[in-house]
Amino acid sequence: MLNKKSVDDINVKGKRVLCRCDFNVPLKEGVITDVNRLTAALPTIKKLVADGGKVILCSHLGKPKGEPKPELSLAPVAVKLAELLGQEVKFAADAEVVGPNAKAAVAAMNDGDVVLLENTRYRIEETKNGEAFSQDLASLCDIFVNDAFGTAHRAHCSNVGVAQLVDTAVVGYLMQKEIDFLGNAVNTPVRPFVAILGGAKVADKLNVISNLLEKCDTLIIGGGMAYTFLKAKGMEVGSSLVDNEKLDYCKEMLEKAEKLGKTILLPVDTKIAASFPSPIDAEIEVENVACDKIPADKMGLDIGTESANMFAEAVKTAKTVVWNGPMGVFENPVLAQGTIAVAKALAETDATTIIGGGDSAAAVNQLGFGDKMTHISTGGGASLEFLEGKDLPGVVAANDK
Ligand code: ATP
Repeated sequence: MLNKKSVDDINVKGKRVLCRCDFNVPLKEGVITDVNRLTAALPTIKKLVADGGKVILCSHLGKPKGEPKPELSLAPVAVKLAELLGQEVKFAADAEVVGPNAKAAVAAMNDGDVVLLENTRYRIEETKNGEAFSQDLASLCDIFVNDAFGTAHRAHCSNVGVAQLVDTAVVGYLMQKEIDFLGNAVNTPVRPFVAILGGAKVADKLNVISNLLEKCDTLIIGGGMAYTFLKAKGMEVGSSLVDNEKLDYCKEMLEKAEKLGKTILLPVDTKIAASFPSPIDAEIEVENVACDKIPADKMGLDIGTESANMFAEAVKTAKTVVWNGPMGVFENPVLAQGTIAVAKALAETDATTIIGGGDSAAAVNQLGFGDKMTHISTGGGASLEFLEGKDLPGVVAANDK
């Protein structure tokens, strides 16, 4: 059980608090095109402001690779954030992030003020967790708060290095939520616990499959990765996506499930077409066939209607559901039905429903089911590593309760 100190466990009055956020927002010609990551950071920032902290914010943006690239400056974030917060956010424009501007801005802060530092990846040491930049960051603050889950699977200066140099390092509300749902709910789930995996390749999720199989009661496998499992069971899957090098692995997982007394549910029917749609949303003719009836020249691109019903049924009695990866090529409306059916089933169940980041989160939001889920992770890579059962350096670095 991960039991980390949070912003609720500390007194920040009059203290300089460095808060690592995830302000890695999409930008188009200097304009922020999606403010979700900014609004998601507000509860922690508001709490620190309300408690009288001197709130120093930092984040990375894109991949400037250790160079001050003006197009990746956090300056537009300061402007937008001020608007969303309803108070001034002073931007410290230093090419070296912690430079004369940042030092002067922090020295001039009153309780409840907010300062934003420049893009942490302007510094070459950031992604290498180099000592000098961690020291610079630590010199600015008394307390460190990490609220950036998206980078929690990486050990960088601004989330791990600095945390090790200050006495008090805690997590913010966003991080706390991710720990509660992805860390704790998966490790100590209310049962029955159903895990649903999809997405393109088995190889991308080897450790996730193995770990979730140990934790869950039923493992549902859809999407492109299902065809390697079907082939491992001896079926002909036509020209469907198959990873021949992972056939033995799939057999191993099927045996592991049997040994553990767990159920692996695979599709029983599939939507087939002559080729992968190009462009991806091109009009396409599909046919629904049983999985053991896929013609040699056809490929499976979505789970079939019977499989969708079967998966939805399995979710109905669950108390905890974790889902990562779409059931088909959801980018094409004709091939989105399986993913929609699963999203709908999750939306209708009383279970705790957890969506593990990346494409699955995008699909659920895009299909309009976002507000029906208990938790949608904000981190793709980080959430996958949590599901693999790995320790996340950004989480480990925070003080235990
Ligand atoms: P994340 O961890 O980011 O949530 P994901 O599992 O959603 O990742 P991928 O593993 O990249 O992401 O898989 C998503 C992709 O898989 C989608 O682009 C989708 O079109 C593709 N996909 C789904 N089913 C099939 C299939 N049957 N054949 C080929 N591609 C498929």
